[in-house]
Amino acid sequence: MNPLKDEDVLPLFAELDRKHYAGALTAAGYRVSLVQVAGLMEAVFACDEDVAGWCLTSHRLILIDKDGDHQGGVRATLLHEMAHAKVDLDRPLSRRESPHGGRFWDEIGHLIGAGEECLGVILETSRP
Ligand SMILES: [Zn+2]
Repeated sequence: MNPLKDEDVLPLFAELDRKHYAGALTAAGYRVSLVQVAGLMEAVFACDEDVAGWCLTSHRLILIDKDGDHQGGVRATLLHEMAHAKVDLDRPLSRRESPHGGRFWDEIGHLIGAGEECLGVILETSRP
């Protein structure tokens, strides 16, 4: 698979932010960066899952692994990370809340209801 390029991801982020959130993520300072080295996220964040994206809410930054295995396509990975950003913008997670808790899945459900069927695959594979 060819590595993702900025033009595969940055315009898509802008489009999805406009479509679903009226540009709120961009307005809040969120930006997207492609990670240059496969495995970096696992190394930096000590995450042993095979992550294809990461949302750093404290830095308003979404990282996308350019060589990642994007289930449902990069659109699904991007929407997954954008859902984390939206949940945080609405109200930051309390220390007791799991990043993949109820509020996250409600947001995913909202996006699927808005026509993002690509997210169905993460419901099947990731929802507890
Ligand atoms: Zn996540």
